[in-house]
Amino acid sequence: MSEKTGFNTVAIHSGAQPDPSTGARATPIYQTSSYVFENTDHAADLFAGRAFGNIYTRIMNPTQDVLEKRVAELEGGKGALALASGHAAQLIALHPLMSAGDEFIASNKLYGGSINQFNHSFKKFNWNVSWAEANDTDDYKSKINDKTKAIFIESIANPGGIITDIEAIAKVAEEHHLPLIVDNTMATPYLCKPLDFGANIVVHSLTKFLGGQGNSIGGIIVDGGNFDWSMDDKYPDLSQPHPSYHGLNFHETFGGMGLSYAIACRFLSLRDLGPAISPFNAFLILNGIETVALRMKQHSNNALEVAKYLEKHDKVSWVHYAGLPNSDYRKHADKYCPNGTGAVFTFGLKGGYDAGVKLVNEVNLFSHLANIGDAKSLIIHPSSTTHSQLTDEQQKLAGASKDVVRLSVGIEDISDIIGDLEQALSKI
Ligand SMILES: *Cc1c(COP(=O)(O)O)cnc(C)c1O
Repeated sequence: MSEKTGFNTVAIHSGAQPDPSTGARATPIYQTSSYVFENTDHAADLFAGRAFGNIYTRIMNPTQDVLEKRVAELEGGKGALALASGHAAQLIALHPLMSAGDEFIASNKLYGGSINQFNHSFKKFNWNVSWAEANDTDDYKSKINDKTKAIFIESIANPGGIITDIEAIAKVAEEHHLPLIVDNTMATPYLCKPLDFGANIVVHSLTKFLGGQGNSIGGIIVDGGNFDWSMDDKYPDLSQPHPSYHGLNFHETFGGMGLSYAIACRFLSLRDLGPAISPFNAFLILNGIETVALRMKQHSNNALEVAKYLEKHDKVSWVHYAGLPNSDYRKHADKYCPNGTGAVFTFGLKGGYDAGVKLVNEVNLFSHLANIGDAKSLIIHPSSTTHSQLTDEQQKLAGASKDVVRLSVGIEDISDIIGDLEQALSKI
């Protein structure tokens, strides 16, 4: 669609057209594992990368293709690769860049699951993470060395109400010729577009706000098409003839289209590691995306109202929501997320651990579970659940002290959301 096409129109139409054989208006679920070749030459061309086309659903699928085109356009990227989960997206995003012994730098304020993935599972590949203080550019700089291959941050960090200074960190990355990868899950492209601020790659857990209804796990990688993979010898999978792909040089062949990285993620990393998204999940998430702007507006408005309500409540000691006028991140919020700061935040209860447990037990409308980004309001008390295995000190460092409650404010009517918190807080 044209540069001027509005966000909602792109969210509803991009990548899709009525099905050419049936006229179906909704994108069909192409529930097939494989595709018939036209003839032997066609098959040979597909396998050699001389022609583009469907071979096998581990590598591509027409339902998945619409999802990829749509998210790529919403983010302002050149292309995308949908995957089985947000964690699969992070794995596949780093795979073409990293070899055993390499390093990457990550913000120390990330989703807890990502911290685990980087600290433990990636270590088994000898991919070594070093953690930088989320918004301290000097800390990122001080950790860069010859082995560093990428920088990884979140736009809005899950869950501390932190907004990362994407442009400042992108500058550090550019000075050292490193790609900046931004996890944009909490913001969605409606609230923040990291590529506009110098990021090179965007990843999402589609499970959260893009899908929006808590019904499917999925992930995606968006290629900004704005990184020169051949400038030095740092990224041989992209800049050298590839031994596992008929000697294809990905950047030489596809760099002009801005797609060399997305294509390498698909034809090397997804092909060999295998976390493909199911066509059914791609379909459900695609339908969710049609309403993402409406939902994110309502999520952000509701979250701000709830944050303001809690701030004044006498049983609440603090509220960390970047949308509040007195938030430490107000300046970053205005710059990076002018349309709102999302649904997820934490607050502290004066009554500590027992009050947190009691609150979670007393809410009715809020669901007690470990997810975010559902249309439904969600609540969790990290110290008695997701972070219960950590010591007091570790809980504190992770922003999960005994008094902390995390909300993912849904899109129900605000009077009902606040009414539920009101009646539950009155019982503490
Ligand atoms: C949930 C989440 C992930 C992981 O995504 P899955 O789809 O659960 O694998 C990664 N990053 C952020 C910010 C998340 O919220």
